[in-house]
Amino acid sequence: MGVTPQGARLWHSLGLGPLWRERALASLALEPSTSRPRPEQLDWNALEQAVAGCTACDLCRSRTQTVFAAGSRTATWMFIGEAPGAEEDARGEPFVGQAGRLLDNMLAAVQLGRERSGEQAVFIANVLKCRPPGNRNPEPKEVAACAPFLRRQIELLHPKIIVVMGRFAAQSVLATEASIASLRGHVHELVMDAERYPVIVTYHPAYLLRNLADKSKVWDDLCLARRTYAHEASLPEGPTANG
Ligand code: SF4
Repeated sequence: MGVTPQGARLWHSLGLGPLWRERALASLALEPSTSRPRPEQLDWNALEQAVAGCTACDLCRSRTQTVFAAGSRTATWMFIGEAPGAEEDARGEPFVGQAGRLLDNMLAAVQLGRERSGEQAVFIANVLKCRPPGNRNPEPKEVAACAPFLRRQIELLHPKIIVVMGRFAAQSVLATEASIASLRGHVHELVMDAERYPVIVTYHPAYLLRNLADKSKVWDDLCLARRTYAHEASLPEGPTANG
């Protein structure tokens, strides 16, 4: 799987470029610690256990529990957010509560869902697996400590497309300081080892709850994701921004 030169040319011809190439998560991988298992060697269950027992950054002291992921481990769609909030920390699942319901509605609008299967299934994870106290912004050292887990989730899932939600997740995954406004509307590329993953950037559902006027932009982003996915999987494109 990956973005082929043909695919890149097609996206450019559709006006969807520029296609960014980023080192991204590969550059965040920590030197393996002797005190914890190396995530790159773990299967799904072992990875989830490793996250549950992780004490690699100070967030382990304030969390109620780790938040590993939701959705299907065989999904071809991956959605990545920032970090657990209070409700996620309490329930151990990402994107619950009001923002979670909005995300579920967004997914349903493009025939996707965390309870669905096959081509409609999604896998949902966060950059950080533990809640920053008071919902403060994650610190770079916390992102660096947690990056091997997200990287391994991507490797194990091997999605056909990744949608990153919110400025923090977009900047972390794409290793950039660019604004979300400039990152939206393009097909980016996450390169990890020999694998290439198309990445679409959109707003975080929690942001949308405060800025309902930007809902149409998220619809545009999801339609771009749908078109990109259809190209990757050679499937019908589904809904478009024009209806
Ligand atoms: Fe470990 Fe990530 Fe939690 Fe930090 S945020 S303790 S690195 S699982």
